[in-house]
Amino acid sequence: MPELPEVETIARHLAPMLTGQTIARVEVLWERTVAQPTLDAFRAALTAARVLEVGRRGKFIQAALSTGQTLLIHLRMSGKFVVSTNAPADDPHARLRLQLGNGTWVVYIDPRKFGRFYLVDDAREVTGVLGPEPLSADFTAEWLTAQLARRRGEIKRLLLDQRFIAGLGNIYVSEALWQAGIHPQRVAAGLTPAEVQRLHAAIVAVLHEAVSNGGTSLEDRQYVYPGGGLGQHQKHLRVYDRAGEHCPRCGYAVERIVQGQRSTYFCPVCQRQSPR
Ligand SMILES: [Zn+2]
Repeated sequence: MPELPEVETIARHLAPMLTGQTIARVEVLWERTVAQPTLDAFRAALTAARVLEVGRRGKFIQAALSTGQTLLIHLRMSGKFVVSTNAPADDPHARLRLQLGNGTWVVYIDPRKFGRFYLVDDAREVTGVLGPEPLSADFTAEWLTAQLARRRGEIKRLLLDQRFIAGLGNIYVSEALWQAGIHPQRVAAGLTPAEVQRLHAAIVAVLHEAVSNGGTSLEDRQYVYPGGGLGQHQKHLRVYDRAGEHCPRCGYAVERIVQGQRSTYFCPVCQRQSPR
């Protein structure tokens, strides 16, 4: 599933193609792609709207429109965009198509059909429940220290909770915990002040590095750029998807465990169960 670096990269690719353009035509091919409002209201409100700005909040792409509304898109498991100046080729997984005023087609393709579009008057109707952005000034070591002190759950599962921090997912939580030297099953409130400082720095560093590498394209190729290119951060992963390979820090074999039905990768030497 795309996480902050992948969604950020897609938004940055879409922004120059969409910004300033009018949406001339809206075709919904899989009705449930539109989560909000009704299909007719979605088509009517989007048609003739101009895109003012394209950005990201958490794992949502968000586009501000001339109508005052915001279009939010969550890609979930397998959503991707293809942008072309020609009429789009028939794709059995195409779920929604927008034609822009300059003739360009923006096609939303989603084999697993979990991705959703929301057209709302106020973006907070959808994103209001999200925690702070980890690359914003709101995300400080002090904030993290205060929040973790009250949390009894496992640190890895807490960091995946979008209401706690927005944008992190399985890949970057594993990478940040490895970088900080924290075992993924540690109780959040049990982290030492030094560990929380390291975790804060690791989350920010891992996300910045992944954004600069254009995100992570795994072998399933679910994440590709709107132009068809691939992210490059998979070449820089230290533990994620690397079970049995050598930890780049200590050389011990990376292990995989399951937490909350998701794979967690970690180094049992660098990431101890007890504080250090
Ligand atoms: Zn190690």
